[in-house]
Amino acid sequence: MVVAESVHKHFGRLHVLRGIDLEVRRGEVMCVVGPSGSGKSTFLRCINHLEKIDGGRLWVDGQLMGYRQKGGKLYELHDAQVAAQRRGIGMVFQNFNLFPHMSVLGNIMEAPVQVNREKRAVARDKAMRLLERVGLAEKAPSYPRQLSGGQQQRVAIARALAMEPDLMLFDEPTSALDPELVGEVLAVMKDLAEDGMTMVVVTHEMGFAREVGDSLVFMDDGVVVESGPPREVLANPREERTQAFLSRVL
Ligand code: ADP
Ligand code: MG
Repeated sequence: MVVAESVHKHFGRLHVLRGIDLEVRRGEVMCVVGPSGSGKSTFLRCINHLEKIDGGRLWVDGQLMGYRQKGGKLYELHDAQVAAQRRGIGMVFQNFNLFPHMSVLGNIMEAPVQVNREKRAVARDKAMRLLERVGLAEKAPSYPRQLSGGQQQRVAIARALAMEPDLMLFDEPTSALDPELVGEVLAVMKDLAEDGMTMVVVTHEMGFAREVGDSLVFMDDGVVVESGPPREVLANPREERTQAFLSRVL
């Protein structure tokens, strides 16, 4: 589903991704951990075309994404190709990013109606099924500000699912939540994982990584330092940097 081959990304003179190699298989749940500033969000944003890589190659769902190589060939997708690829990828952010002026139902129906040109009645039915799935059917007419953070994040997940993605990206989905609200969001994500969704999850929730993750990737300073089955990496980190990080968060 995702193959990264020596992916690089600069912001001006800041070399943020310094050769990322990894592979996410269909149906896999990959958890990504690492210190702040190590490039986790940037990497997710590259997968979703929110940033362009400037070295290496990145495939999503078997399709090569646009890339630049110094001195080499410039290869870029057309806007329509980018749009088509992005439709297959759902993203959930730390701060929910719901549309504040739309109801919960409106938030979920927006992209299917505006982007996919689904009929409103069809989109509404689907939105209601998704709200039931995340346990929030009764909140359909509410506005985001009337919901708790955990409820808003569950709506954000339902909104992403409404586009019927093949891949879901989560960028610290529970980091902005009060501790007592973390569990309800992780439960929705676990349900999604058990349903076979391919997921890349940047998180500090090691319990989730251990229980739900198929693989755990430790990133530091723009590279993958270590990866493997979560239980193994957590119990026996091989690299010193992984050991130091885990001893701080566990
Ligand atoms: P993480 O998610 O692991 O905390 P990020 O990917 O957000 O790390 O950031 C990695 C580095 O890139 C940081 O030093 C950050 O300040 C920098 N960075 C991220 N986005 C931008 C941007 N749009 N412009 C300039 N620097 C950025
Ligand atoms: Mg981040």
